[in-house]
Amino acid sequence: MSQGLTEKSHDSEVVAGVDLGSTSIKVVIYNGSSYGAWMRVASLDPEETALSLLAEASTETGLFSTPEIIATTGYGRRCLKTAKFCFTEITTHAKGAFFLVPGCRFVVDIGGQDAKGIRLSADGRVEDFVMNDKCAAGTGRFLSAMGQALGVPVDKLGSCAAGAEPHRINAMCTVFAESEVVGLIHQGVPRNAIIAGLHASIARRTASMIASLHPKPPIAFTGGVSQNEDIVKRLGLELGYPVIVPKDAVYAGAIGAALLAWEQHKDENTTR
Ligand code: ADP
Repeated sequence: MSQGLTEKSHDSEVVAGVDLGSTSIKVVIYNGSSYGAWMRVASLDPEETALSLLAEASTETGLFSTPEIIATTGYGRRCLKTAKFCFTEITTHAKGAFFLVPGCRFVVDIGGQDAKGIRLSADGRVEDFVMNDKCAAGTGRFLSAMGQALGVPVDKLGSCAAGAEPHRINAMCTVFAESEVVGLIHQGVPRNAIIAGLHASIARRTASMIASLHPKPPIAFTGGVSQNEDIVKRLGLELGYPVIVPKDAVYAGAIGAALLAWEQHKDENTTR
């Protein structure tokens, strides 16, 4: 799916950012002023999926071949051997979020496998960050597992919980939380109250993980979990400030990778 990259771009004038995430691969093609974005579910062969998505994106953009300048990021960033640049997720998510929410001073990103908080300077540089990539609790994986236990697709959890009074969930670990959720269903606790409880626990966990960085607004929320409107609301309440979910929040890492590739490529050409 392409968004925004409307005019035909010449092959020599574009770069690609590829976010090889744990649940999906995202590709962004950027021509210095606008971008197009594509996503595909991750497979057991991330390189093959990324290459095939790059080919699809390039065809839809009207290119003769995939861009020569490719930058990767994300969990599987080292898998794509043809990439010229490889950036950490902190660098790319900060860059992408600052592009999507100009002037933001803090980024919360919750993806499939990790959660991170990044404090930014007024000009968008990374000042400090925290990251949980050790435990699934508080990540998209946790939500997907709970959605399965409850029989609710992950993209419907937000609307299911809207307006519900949260039922307290005590287990912090994904495996124990799953047993707790199944037990609550059997006790007749309404599903929307259980889901609201899970969202409240993710919001609490995230707020406590980033508390040491003293997040101040404007706060951008990116990553797949930012698509859950109930978590967005609860996170804002926990932090005491509203959180901003920009359009294309799930592409923040790939956008950041494309922007950094563009800058580095231009730098190399001007210093030659
Ligand atoms: P990764 O980069 O590791 O693949 P993402 O940032 O794409 O991770 O986030 C993936 C997670 O986001 C999924 O595990 C799921 O829990 C959540 N998610 C994805 N799409 C949606 C959606 N439409 N609504 C709510 N949550 C979603």
